[in-house]
Amino acid sequence: METACMRYQNTYVNLDTRLYHEQPPTPLDNPRVGHFNTQVAQQLGWANDEDLMTNWVEILGGQYVPADFKPLSMAYAGHQFGQWAGQLGDGRGLLMAQVLDVDGQPQDLHLKGAGLTPYSRMGDGRAVLRSTIREYLCGHALTQLGIPSSNALGFVVSDTRVRRERIEAGAALMRVADSHIRLGHVEWIASFAPDVLGEFTDYMIDTYYPECRDSETPVLAFLTAVVERTARMIADWQLIGFAHGVMNTDNLSITGSTLDFGPFGFMERFNPAWINNHSDHTGRYAYQNQPAIGHWNLNVWLPHFMRLEGVTRETLAECLAPYEATFMQHYQQGLCRKLGLPHQRENLSLAFEWLTLLEDNLLDYTNSFRALLGLVAPADHPYEQKLLVTMTTELSGDAQQVWQDWSTRYLAQIEQLSLEQVVNGMQTTNPVYVLRNSMAQRAITAAEQGQFEEVDRVFRLLDNPYSVQDIANDLDTNAPAPDTPQMPISCSS
Ligand code: AMP
Ligand code: MG
Ligand code: MG
Repeated sequence: METACMRYQNTYVNLDTRLYHEQPPTPLDNPRVGHFNTQVAQQLGWANDEDLMTNWVEILGGQYVPADFKPLSMAYAGHQFGQWAGQLGDGRGLLMAQVLDVDGQPQDLHLKGAGLTPYSRMGDGRAVLRSTIREYLCGHALTQLGIPSSNALGFVVSDTRVRRERIEAGAALMRVADSHIRLGHVEWIASFAPDVLGEFTDYMIDTYYPECRDSETPVLAFLTAVVERTARMIADWQLIGFAHGVMNTDNLSITGSTLDFGPFGFMERFNPAWINNHSDHTGRYAYQNQPAIGHWNLNVWLPHFMRLEGVTRETLAECLAPYEATFMQHYQQGLCRKLGLPHQRENLSLAFEWLTLLEDNLLDYTNSFRALLGLVAPADHPYEQKLLVTMTTELSGDAQQVWQDWSTRYLAQIEQLSLEQVVNGMQTTNPVYVLRNSMAQRAITAAEQGQFEEVDRVFRLLDNPYSVQDIANDLDTNAPAPDTPQMPISCSS
């Protein structure tokens, strides 16, 4: 049987030329191996192409552009922190190629840190090693957790020097996502090329939502599907304890797949008002605001489609209406499943009481959920039993009684169910490992000294986030003490 090489489908370049600028990357100086994701290479068909495998460092370093690639920077706009920001666009990334992966799904290869473009504004077109590693590890973490997300083929580091607060090494990441079309693409078109909206909408439907063609009103079916996918993605974030950090409309994909990792974080000690992004002074993008912000973004996005025939204010309201119910359904179901329970009113109350216990005692979100396996099935879960001991020793005096009472009622619910199903549900929804900011930071510190072993170790750990692993150490699972100042994580770097 013939092994599948990359199946190119460079269709963006056939769209109206105002939407993009064709250009090659600007080479980095002396690019070197950072890390390579073999699984992604296989999924793309990249792994079966000798030229691509041999020259991947030169390709990511912008020194070699394979003949089948069609590099271009895309125009888009956006609302940033609630304000219209006008034209933005790919200021430091290029869409290098579009392919169908081994499952026939569209995938974009996008090189981030590829140099100046017409959309660079005041920026230098580069990405530093630090933020490249964070994005690389986060895409991998979310993907392996089962949350729709961009991922990456790999990254390179270089001798190109990039000025931020200090001088840092320039790097480049070959990001892979089902689409790089953001809500902000439509906002750009509405402002700068409104006559293209029909053609562009057809493109989005045909490429990413072909099933909507079966509807009598494909555009409305498409818009509703974007709303629903976005709601589900954000419910997934809330359940895993992920904060995106900068949910501007230019950072949300039209496919409901997590895109653009800058000031993201994973919840440590549970605090719904947690703000990971150091530059987010008002907490607009705080963890607990994410569902409402998703709605806000869709609400500014949808009215642009009124330019199209058959789309009215009333029909758009119908497209947006399912957002809240979809979110609630997915979130509440997921929360019950994390406790190993069916989605029922009384179980949901138990779940909310549990979250209150975590919040009142500033308990570690990831570890506390996982610790419940040590309560439900102690014999098979020695690691989780230890988590449970840690958790209960952190409870205040009053909270001990709350916990006793809660766990008794919880176990009474569990007893009515098949333990095998309970354990299965809990093991596949409560990770042992998430990408804590401190883990990424240790990998970065070593990489800045030229050592990439720690990036590799964290990468391998996150390969199987739902299983206890030998390669883990205490630093991978411990939340900082409650009074530890938060690590400052900011926007674009
Ligand atoms: P972000 O905050 O990363 O989502 O970026 C917002 C906008 O700024 C996007 O249009 C980026 O392409 C652009 N941008 C961010 N960093 C740079 C940079 N170093 N050089 C050029 N453009 C940039
Ligand atoms: Mg052009
Ligand atoms: Mg962005």
